[in-house]
Amino acid sequence: MKKYFAPGRVNLIGEHLDYNGGTVLPVAINLGVTATVQPLQENVVVLRSNTHSFSKRIDLSDEFHFDKANDWTNYPLGIISQLKNENHAIQPCEIIFESNLPEGSGLSSSAAVEIVTAFALLSQTEKQINLPWLAVFCKQVENDFIGVKCGIMDQYAVALGKKNNALLIDCDKVNHRYIPFDIGDYRLLVMNTKKPRSLILSKYNERKQECEEALRIIHTTKSEIENLCQADMLWLNILNNEVLKRRVRHVISEQLRVNEAVKVLQHNDLSTFGRLMNASHASLKNDYEVSGMELDTLVECAQQIGGCLGARMTGAGFGGCAIALVHSSAVEELVTKVSEKYFAVTGLACEIYECKASDGVKCL
Ligand code: ADP
Ligand code: MG
Repeated sequence: MKKYFAPGRVNLIGEHLDYNGGTVLPVAINLGVTATVQPLQENVVVLRSNTHSFSKRIDLSDEFHFDKANDWTNYPLGIISQLKNENHAIQPCEIIFESNLPEGSGLSSSAAVEIVTAFALLSQTEKQINLPWLAVFCKQVENDFIGVKCGIMDQYAVALGKKNNALLIDCDKVNHRYIPFDIGDYRLLVMNTKKPRSLILSKYNERKQECEEALRIIHTTKSEIENLCQADMLWLNILNNEVLKRRVRHVISEQLRVNEAVKVLQHNDLSTFGRLMNASHASLKNDYEVSGMELDTLVECAQQIGGCLGARMTGAGFGGCAIALVHSSAVEELVTKVSEKYFAVTGLACEIYECKASDGVKCL
């Protein structure tokens, strides 16, 4: 019996930049999905999860396609299917998934399941697993088998996270480097709105289309850039559409904030980093318009706590999670005040978790 673990992730800064060819700065977190693998005699794989009653037994000689009836097992089935397509040997086994990572909250539980499945299966037969390759492989499964057109950030962070570090990912060139995120007496809190994310897919696609349209217009006079993150603030008046201007202003200003964040984190200047988080939230709220009453309530309440250096929504928006960077002595006050205020305004109970920048996928 062997055990493997893949973490969830939060993006510290650089929101809605992945599909615009920019750089993003996520950390893998200490919450995640554990897979326990038990070899079997017959040519089958059995999939079980402690968070879902549905389980599945498949014959490894069969072919698999996405099927709604397969519920959560579509994620591991997509991985198995693609491993087979690429001629990787798969040993018959039972995989039991156990998780303390909230699902469907923007902390990338789907990527954690994909990465831990692929890592666990490959570990049975192969000595070396190339992690950047693994990230791209699992992203492709999420795009093609599951049908979610996500960028590379989630799988990359889950595979390559590193304790006390953030991962600076260049989503255009698909490479990475580590940036120190050693926060000493400060704490990284993840605040979950617990709001069902119904709008998210349509709005996500709408923003992607707006960015494509803006790049098309900018290209008519500035053909030298490859993506929107390379555009200049001075070019905004090429766009004579106020909405597109605001969308592009977010993309350009957010990329500048990521660049600045990387500089200040090298010097452990958490105060400036916190201010960049606040500015990122304001831009996502006002220019990119992907926040919402729930996320704004959590973020704005957290920002008012003494000892909180910064807070922002993280992930695609419209629900999901926000993060806050707060001194350890103010954690209790933040949790109490934010929870009370959030319930009073929304009628929902939020959840707040203290998270640490942690290692990516590993054998336990
Ligand atoms: P997110 O990736 O933000 O958590 P998604 O909607 O992309 O949200 O993925 C959530 C889905 O991933 C769940 O609905 C479930 O199908 C699957 N999933 C995540 N964690 C587990 C788990 N521990 N066991 C089984 N399925 C899981
Ligand atoms: Mg997901």
